[in-house]
Amino acid sequence: MLEKLIFEKSSPGRTAYSLPVGAYCNTPLPIPERHLRSKPAELPEVAEIDVVRHFTRLSQLNFSVDTNFYPLGSCTMKYNPKVNEDVSRYEGFVNLHPYQSQEQCQGILQILYELEKTLTEICGMEEFTLQPAAGAHGEFVGMLISHAYHVKNGKRRNKIIIPDSAHGTNPASAAMCGFDIVEIKSNSHGLIDIETLKRNMDSDIAALMLTNPNTLGLFEKDILKIAEIVHDAGALLYLDGANMNALLGIAKPGDMGVDILHLNLHKTFSTPHGGGGPGAGPLGVVKKLIPFLPAPRIIKKDNSYNWQDDRPDSIGRVKPFHGNTGVLIRAYAYLVSVGSEGLGKISESALVNANYLWKKLSGHIEIPYGERCMHEFVASTRKLKANGITTLDIAKRLLDYGFHSPTIYFPLIVADALMIEPTDTETRETLDEFADAIIKILEEAKTNPEILKKAPHNTPASRLDEVQAARKPDLRWRKDSS
Ligand SMILES: *Cc1c(COP(=O)(O)O)cnc(C)c1O
Repeated sequence: MLEKLIFEKSSPGRTAYSLPVGAYCNTPLPIPERHLRSKPAELPEVAEIDVVRHFTRLSQLNFSVDTNFYPLGSCTMKYNPKVNEDVSRYEGFVNLHPYQSQEQCQGILQILYELEKTLTEICGMEEFTLQPAAGAHGEFVGMLISHAYHVKNGKRRNKIIIPDSAHGTNPASAAMCGFDIVEIKSNSHGLIDIETLKRNMDSDIAALMLTNPNTLGLFEKDILKIAEIVHDAGALLYLDGANMNALLGIAKPGDMGVDILHLNLHKTFSTPHGGGGPGAGPLGVVKKLIPFLPAPRIIKKDNSYNWQDDRPDSIGRVKPFHGNTGVLIRAYAYLVSVGSEGLGKISESALVNANYLWKKLSGHIEIPYGERCMHEFVASTRKLKANGITTLDIAKRLLDYGFHSPTIYFPLIVADALMIEPTDTETRETLDEFADAIIKILEEAKTNPEILKKAPHNTPASRLDEVQAARKPDLRWRKDSS
């Protein structure tokens, strides 16, 4: 059953609350006449229970990580412990104001300071900034820092090398910063081709933007060699750390020769992900890049914490106030609650889960690259084309079995890609059910392709025109729209 709009439930004069007349309502508001409405705003007039039921029902129409398995590769749809939500809503945090004096904010400053230090330790870097608001923002800030670094060294460099398996935000961030993109093709194993990298390396290259494990879920095993080639040419090695779920407590990017990296707290450190924000994309750097970090920085001196603004080489501020602090608090709470031992277990479980699924599915679906995987892997449904079945059909049919689809059609180097990331927080039973559903759907693709073409069958709405929905959103549901 589709839910009516809240406006359609409105009835004139119906209210949720009304305060006793006289007690609060008899003093005219001190608002100049010209700013007052001449007629009441056209808001829905509904009872409290209408509001509660309406929005509860809407939430039930949505697919969510709290209700079902959500194996979106690259996005890391983890279950995030609810205790971290609670902590981020502590009164002391939510009532803080960014213009309060530093003396009054010592608690939150200490948390931000310690979070920076913890992320620094986890990644083997020298310092972190918490300002960037998302992964892509971290990339952009990293590109600004690369630019500032080369200019300071006396030569502007105008190109960034990016492998063809990279996430689309990588070239976008570099281009927004004014760099030209040099795309290099992956080799037949889905990894960076050393010879191609060498051939493209010259004194105009500011940085290589690398994702490790890469978007195929494969570890760049030549990472040390890659770092050497990059550094020998005087360039920087940027790591897209969106896949840190595979490395926590096991390996440090700093030990791999990485000079700059961003993390996505909404992928790896306990901020719910999928509602479109807010997130956070802290950025870590090696020693020589510290002067360029966004200002202000938090400095600890004699057990007090203060913002330091006086940083002549800083690229400046990249976010009003001090980053998305609610997200930063969740990450801090998460790190405190898992401890350093728990940290390694997160990644171990992510790797075991992904490889378990890899093994269960590899006899049933084509997995073009790798003998095993890190925290995710990429399958291809291209062989089903002969039956007229697309990756989208598989994705839609999965909804009927109670699973969100994996990421589809990404990365671009795999035709008809199905990118599966089970994350660390899923049980073996869930993984078994998911594998069984995929195997069943692949069988249906041969025996009953029609059922896939018209899927999903069990959801409130079936196939929507997604392009139209994005280009011309019509939020009013009508009987005649299917
Ligand atoms: C998610 C992701 C990004 C972009 O991060 P946002 O936080 O969505 O801006 C970049 N690279 C990879 C590999 C990603 O998975």
